[in-house]
Amino acid sequence: MEVTNLIGGERVAAQSGQLIDDIGPATNEVIARIPDSDAPDVDAAVKAAKAALAGNWGSSSVAERADLCDAIADRIESRLDELAELESRDTGKPVWLARSVDIPRAVSNFRFFAGAVRHDATAMHEMADAINYTVRRPLGVVGLITPWNLPLYLLSWKTAPALATGNAVVAKPSEITPLTASALGDIITEVGGPAGAFNLVHGYGHKVGQALVAHPEVAGISFTGGTATGARVGATAAATFKKVSLELGGKNSTVIFADCDFEATLAGTVRASFANQGQVCLCGSRILVERPLYDSFVTAFTERVSQMQVGDPASSTSNMGSLVSADHRQKVEGYIALARQEGGTIATGGVRPELPEPFSRGAFLRPTVVTGLPETCRTATEEIFGPVVTVHAFDTEADAVRIANDVQYGLAASVWTRDLGRAHRVAAALDTGMVWVNTWLKRDLRVPFGGVKASGVGREGGKYSLSFYTQDKNICIQL
Ligand code: NAP
Repeated sequence: MEVTNLIGGERVAAQSGQLIDDIGPATNEVIARIPDSDAPDVDAAVKAAKAALAGNWGSSSVAERADLCDAIADRIESRLDELAELESRDTGKPVWLARSVDIPRAVSNFRFFAGAVRHDATAMHEMADAINYTVRRPLGVVGLITPWNLPLYLLSWKTAPALATGNAVVAKPSEITPLTASALGDIITEVGGPAGAFNLVHGYGHKVGQALVAHPEVAGISFTGGTATGARVGATAAATFKKVSLELGGKNSTVIFADCDFEATLAGTVRASFANQGQVCLCGSRILVERPLYDSFVTAFTERVSQMQVGDPASSTSNMGSLVSADHRQKVEGYIALARQEGGTIATGGVRPELPEPFSRGAFLRPTVVTGLPETCRTATEEIFGPVVTVHAFDTEADAVRIANDVQYGLAASVWTRDLGRAHRVAAALDTGMVWVNTWLKRDLRVPFGGVKASGVGREGGKYSLSFYTQDKNICIQL
């Protein structure tokens, strides 16, 4: 499969003519080639986006843009199975997961923001002798930079509000997982999206991403990715005063009290630990358990995790597929080696599963539970972004909060208890952008999504996204 850029409604190669191999991680085979684009391709895409804004797209109505988003949602939905298979081939995740989570969520993102702009309203502030009213205008050209873990899910989470509010998009998906972004480009064209409203430039972050963030005619950057990259993006964007949203890494705690509903907590913790092979920014990778429950929890959790099936992403019985790449597995395995050096015990996992051809060549790894580590060590505080969790005991509520907060990140946490008062106290004291109580990754698209500390700046979701992709202007009229 040869993937091309989408610039001004045309499918084009990188100006350099160079290509990058896209490798399917479950079999370690080249499944596509994508353009190795650079600054001139980004510049062409920004020009195409500006031309769209100067044309009909720039004067489109809310109703037209909402209808476009609905049409995109319908078309994604009609291609659900095909897109789920594509996402699975590119990422190594189970097809059932892409079919039940990634692709349906892309549909919901477009439907949700179609509804959100239809029902949006701006403010009016009345004075004795004047009225003020607020008009909301799109930022202009926005750059959307997305990671490899939830490719279409996260790209649609940014594209839907950006288009619904009337911006023109230049998107740069991760070069590791470009296929569903390319399909989205086709879908937007097929349903009549105007040329240049959605442009796609494939390639490496240090070339395409960097050029997009530095481009003087890009008004806003919405970035989801790692914390170190986010810092570079923020610094580069500052030079041209861009509006920036940064959704970054996490090292999230799962805080379990002895009074929890044990079965629900066990099931929730397995999911929070290993969903998408542990490659969700929200995964609970440090599990803190109140000491009276610690031994029984570790025994039951380890038993449950050791029964998980890892293998063929197309099989409905695989709980986990492969990691996103051989390189990423090597990084994760480096942390398992570090855990051993730091004195940890591998309670289960820590090894590659034995799989038949062609999966013996894939980037698979058993889900791994580490015990016996101090909660301040590197394994327990650095983002691993893979199927590796550490488990620690705590004595008091205050201890749990202190340990959970003692990391550089502040994205999310989950708290498991039957005590409602404690749930409120702990949730309030946790230094994170999001807290789930007795659940994990339950999403309402209206709520603020984002982190504090090294997990990012800004919020996405509902009115927060509408606000990010627009500028408010106040108009004051003397009566
Ligand atoms: P990454 O390496 O930071 O890359 C993210 C995106 O940025 C990719 O498209 C990447 O391109 C691009 N990029 C790299 N260098 C750039 C630069 N100098 N300027 C502009 N763009 C650049 O992250 P990743 O490894 O793909 O994703 C994993 C990380 O994402 C984890 O830390 C995870 O926690 C985080 N994440 C956060 C959230 C959230 O909502 N908070 C959600 C999902 C994931 P290349 O692929 O070419 O490097």
